[in-house]
Amino acid sequence: MDHFQYRDGTLFAEEVSVSNIASQFGTPCFIYSRATLIRHLHAYAGSLSDISHLICYGMKANSNLAVLQILAKEGAGFDIVSVGELERVLKAGGDPAKVVFSGVGKQDFELRRALEVGIHCFNVESLAELYHLNAIAMETGKVAPVSLRINPNVDPKTHPYISTGLKANKFGIAQEDAIAAYRHSSELPGLSPVGIDCHIGSQLTDVSPLIESLDKLLNLIDQLADIGIQLKHIDLGGGLGVTYDQETPPHPSEYLALVKKRLAGRDLTLILEPGRSIAANAGIFVTKTILTKKNQDQHFAIVDGAMNDFIRPSLYGAWQKIIPVDTTEKTGQIEASFDIVGPVCESGDFLGKERRLRLQEGDLLAVRSAGAYGFVMGSNYNTRGRAPEILVDKDQVHLIRERETIDSLWALEHTVDD
Ligand SMILES: *Cc1c(COP(=O)(O)O)cnc(C)c1O
Repeated sequence: MDHFQYRDGTLFAEEVSVSNIASQFGTPCFIYSRATLIRHLHAYAGSLSDISHLICYGMKANSNLAVLQILAKEGAGFDIVSVGELERVLKAGGDPAKVVFSGVGKQDFELRRALEVGIHCFNVESLAELYHLNAIAMETGKVAPVSLRINPNVDPKTHPYISTGLKANKFGIAQEDAIAAYRHSSELPGLSPVGIDCHIGSQLTDVSPLIESLDKLLNLIDQLADIGIQLKHIDLGGGLGVTYDQETPPHPSEYLALVKKRLAGRDLTLILEPGRSIAANAGIFVTKTILTKKNQDQHFAIVDGAMNDFIRPSLYGAWQKIIPVDTTEKTGQIEASFDIVGPVCESGDFLGKERRLRLQEGDLLAVRSAGAYGFVMGSNYNTRGRAPEILVDKDQVHLIRERETIDSLWALEHTVDD
């Protein structure tokens, strides 16, 4: 359940009509529901109230300041992958002590800044990174809390681009090398090993690979305890899937019941880094039909939203539900199987293919589940300004990011003298 529902045939975001938002702010646009974001966060937090835990929202999914602010106020921490994301957390009023820093290519200036503000933990992904971090910590007189990201070599059975826990992937430290790496980090004076982490992939619809990874990490924790390295937390990453179409991903409570069973009797804080499962179904992408056309037998709806705004269909072949904003029948509409395509000059520029819809020029469509990996993956390809982001809170509408103006698109460019 989310807060995008029809009322008398017209789509609402919480208490506000989506067509009213579209006429006020124009199309294309992203619309997020505050209540849905909070509901999804609490789906995790609610299941963990009886154990020590920290939910670090995987903010790369949707890093708008207002979204971060809402989640921070509800107690969330953040999983960051760049210093830019760290600055966003601070700007939004998030607590640096609840931040974990992931990523295979952290640069020295990023490590330095994170040490300076005092983050919760560095999720280190290689020996080289351990050395860099140790050097910087010693130079600044700090001790960096570290967790090693273990690659458990588990197949998450998801799209290859979002599988991250296999031997062939660039992420993490191989399980076989973990003990040696921990031994090393415990000997480096600038580091304090406090945790262990993994993140095996995204859009997982089955808990078994997650639980399999958990068991492997617990086994490592026991081996480490035997050599005198006592870890305080276990971080299972993000990755829980959402329903785009017919998928039936486990509810967080189902997943966490299994996790809690395995953690029982252990003195470990559980950290999770959910991104998609918090944000995806808290957002829609609204686009207007510019015109319809028919090439031979194929009907096309050319819409004003494109791959530069929302790239998941083009990039991953992702299927997103596309629904009419207004379902009342109008004369002039054609009912057909439409390819919903944008104006960008690429054949890969589509939002959906062969969708049975009744449409005519000017009709609004909503792409569901667009709150995660939507706006953040946008670009200015074809010199298209990025779409605005709008947050609905009951009957209140907030413009949380303005539409990019044409001037802003070349603001950083310079012509050369003849
Ligand atoms: C992307 C990412 C997440 C969030 O993943 P979701 O599938 O969106 O939940 C969490 N942790 C790490 C390290 C990531 O790279």
